[in-house]
Amino acid sequence: VIFGAPFDSTASYRPGARFGSAAIRHESYGLETYSPYLDRDLEDISVFDSGDIELPMGSSEMALDAISERTAEILMDGKLPFMLGGEHLVTLGTFREVYKKYPKVQIFHFDAHTDLRDNYLGVSLSHACVMRRCHDIVGDGQIHQFGIRSGERAEWTFAREGHTDLHPFTLDDVNSVIKSIAPGTPVYLTVDLDILDPSVFPGTGTPEAGGVTFEELRKALICVCRGLNVVGCDVTELAPTLDASGVSTAVACKIIRELLLALNS
Ligand code: MN
Ligand code: MN
Repeated sequence: VIFGAPFDSTASYRPGARFGSAAIRHESYGLETYSPYLDRDLEDISVFDSGDIELPMGSSEMALDAISERTAEILMDGKLPFMLGGEHLVTLGTFREVYKKYPKVQIFHFDAHTDLRDNYLGVSLSHACVMRRCHDIVGDGQIHQFGIRSGERAEWTFAREGHTDLHPFTLDDVNSVIKSIAPGTPVYLTVDLDILDPSVFPGTGTPEAGGVTFEELRKALICVCRGLNVVGCDVTELAPTLDASGVSTAVACKIIRELLLALNS
């Protein structure tokens, strides 16, 4: 079950991710439903788009509560929540409900940024802190981070002390980490699209040079969906108005199509 979380109140640099889910929904009509990569078609699988949640701007707590509420409904129905951001803080709203249902859940985190700050300018509920808040919930060694290439020194130290399982700069280690996970372990997949190089995906609030290609990300995500028991998923940080060409939105749509098809196989 897809839903949108159009929220960007804590964007630390350029806002606009609140328009992400609506842009993805609108531009998705320009994308083929058939994936030649997977030889599967969206018309062959069951996906329900439950629309965007109406979120209050200005209260992160209330927004996260609303996201948790929608997630809980989807989980109660035995479905897989698939959230479209929004900025990355929205992950906390979904993840904490997934954790209630699956206390052994591990996180696969694709991002340019560690998102491990304890607070950002005194604010603990910020997209720059979202993985740290998830770590508060799951504890050490349960968050696997890939493609990371930015963050303050304290965040890198926190990760390198073993609080998270950090695999910086590339996606080279994704397969070996997948193989190390016990079969059946529930996994939450969170994709911050700024993991992509800004030449591929400029439409995001905090672009970071040195990112991965579309093909590298697509292949890694397919491996995650096929090799692990994914029980929840989100794709965040598309800020469509920051890329007047529309290419970033098209890239997001294609990643989401591949994820939906791979999760249904
Ligand atoms: Mn992020
Ligand atoms: Mn990021």
